[in-house]
Amino acid sequence: MKKICYIVAMRAEARPFIEEFQLHEVKDYFAPYPFILYQGTVGQMELSVVLNGEQHGSDLVGCEAASITTYAAIERLHPDLVINSGTCGAFKADGAKIADIYIGNAVMFHDRRVPGDDAWGTQALGNYPLWSQSEALAEVLAFKIGKVTTGSSLDMQPIDLEIIRSNGGQLKDMEAAAIAFTCSLTHTPLLLVKSVTDLCDGGEKTFEEFSKNLSAASQALRVANTRIIYYLAEHCCQ
Ligand code: SAH
Repeated sequence: MKKICYIVAMRAEARPFIEEFQLHEVKDYFAPYPFILYQGTVGQMELSVVLNGEQHGSDLVGCEAASITTYAAIERLHPDLVINSGTCGAFKADGAKIADIYIGNAVMFHDRRVPGDDAWGTQALGNYPLWSQSEALAEVLAFKIGKVTTGSSLDMQPIDLEIIRSNGGQLKDMEAAAIAFTCSLTHTPLLLVKSVTDLCDGGEKTFEEFSKNLSAASQALRVANTRIIYYLAEHCCQ
């Protein structure tokens, strides 16, 4: 594994580990698109971090931005492994706590309800493959594992909850399945690294809880990603 590429939605989620690895910004690499590339090397391994960039003064989050950023990153950088690092909601009932780190062991959409036969239902839910070594990595580095489900909203409607829980979903975000879809088209391996900003069944308002915990969760992502990057550089880079 010679090249790894992170896809991150929010600047706040990426800044701590961009600083940790002293990555430099490659100005206008994706121009005229707003995606931002940071790069550096760790041992023999090339480390790229690609952010979606901004529109209307806020970081681009959600599936559309995640899909095209991932497409551009794969086309231009040819990574051996894509890693999506970001924040998520999780469930107190599963034992999740704020700033916990999870490695995704499955991924699907929870808000694409398409009637029809099994083929349409299967396409709508996604259930895309993830890097085959995801669970092994989680075990060596002692991270929790869980199924990530993705939708286009930060809030959670009753129908979302029903679909998430009836499909074994544990972690709720707005990008992972879109990135997994794009990676699946080229069979590019994908690792999901998620940190919990809010508890979907905790009774707090999601946006307030998210905002309060974004910094702690982003620091947890820095620590987790540092361990993951050194592990990959040492064990998988040949
Ligand atoms: N208005 C917010 C925008 C963040 S949107 C702000 O001020 O910063 C939420 C981001 O965090 C998305 O990138 C999403 O992947 C992740 N996220 C965290 N908790 C989430 C949850 N409970 N549901 C969906 N996405 C969540």
